[in-house]
Amino acid sequence: MKFTSQIETYLQRVPKAELHVHLEGAIAPATLLQLAERNRVDLPVKSVAEMQDWFRYRDFDHFIEIFVAATSCLRTAEDYELIAYEFGATMARQNVRYAEITFSPSTHYFLLGLSHEIYFTGLQRGRARAQKDFGVEMRWVFDLVRVNEDEHRRRCADYTTAVAIELQHEGVVAIGLGGAEVGNPPEWFAPWVDKARAAGLHSVPHAGETVGPESVWGALRTLGAERLGHGVRASEDPELVAYLAEKKIPIEVCPTSNICLGVYQSYQHHPLPALYAAGVPVTINTDDPPLFNTNMNHEVAVLAREFQLDLPTINEILLNGVRYSFLPPAEKQHLETRFKQEMEQLSPIPINE
Ligand SMILES: [Zn+2]
Repeated sequence: MKFTSQIETYLQRVPKAELHVHLEGAIAPATLLQLAERNRVDLPVKSVAEMQDWFRYRDFDHFIEIFVAATSCLRTAEDYELIAYEFGATMARQNVRYAEITFSPSTHYFLLGLSHEIYFTGLQRGRARAQKDFGVEMRWVFDLVRVNEDEHRRRCADYTTAVAIELQHEGVVAIGLGGAEVGNPPEWFAPWVDKARAAGLHSVPHAGETVGPESVWGALRTLGAERLGHGVRASEDPELVAYLAEKKIPIEVCPTSNICLGVYQSYQHHPLPALYAAGVPVTINTDDPPLFNTNMNHEVAVLAREFQLDLPTINEILLNGVRYSFLPPAEKQHLETRFKQEMEQLSPIPINE
């Protein structure tokens, strides 16, 4: 499909849902600067321009340094309210109507010494104000973190699981698993994910990003993964691809993040089109938008411009964001119907069902 300005406009206006984005990795440079000033945190950069340059992806260590620096600028409930509210404003600008946002409670608790009475109160206020002002809906995914030290990893997992279960009726829909995948196989986390699932939370681990198919198999077999964060390296195992297609287990694909982190050399090497063609449910996401200089409009444009997917296919991928969300069935149905109506109204070409 030719990527015309008409197509580009459609893709900007079309309603979207995002299932894979980290709140701590989504703080805009200007907001981070404001938080650093407010809390007297000494960042290595002092202006938005310098910050944008600092944010530009170099390597994984630099990426973690920024992630930690961004997190350390947070102190009060107001700070958390600000980042959640601003995320809502960004959603509205991209026509993202619904998002399941990953947040790592253990980092805030152990690194900053903040209890959930502080951070979660702020997050919920920001979420409610964004809903009121912009009509956007947010839910939370609390993620277990693959830290390297055994005892600390255990403490983090205990804390995250307890707090996710406690807050599950206040918008926390799932237990995630993030951090460095290499050397941290999913199997280790099974007892905590089991506990969270038994309490009614969904399971959505990162797997198949920097480690291959064995990590995805592990996440499916031992964590009961209902969706896979990234999951793209499943493409290296035909049996696994067939399994995901048959069981309709969706993958949360973040193409620009994959290129920045060197999972693939370029969009041309990326397996998204092949996975979609094989029948794996694909969703499109940003991961950490300012760190990878991306946003949802950009990722959706990539589907057309780089992957050459046609509009009916792109619409299917966008609808998958709703279908594979953790919303209750009736709400999901309602949102899907609304998305389809808007797609028909906005479409520059007739959409064949
Ligand atoms: Zn991620």
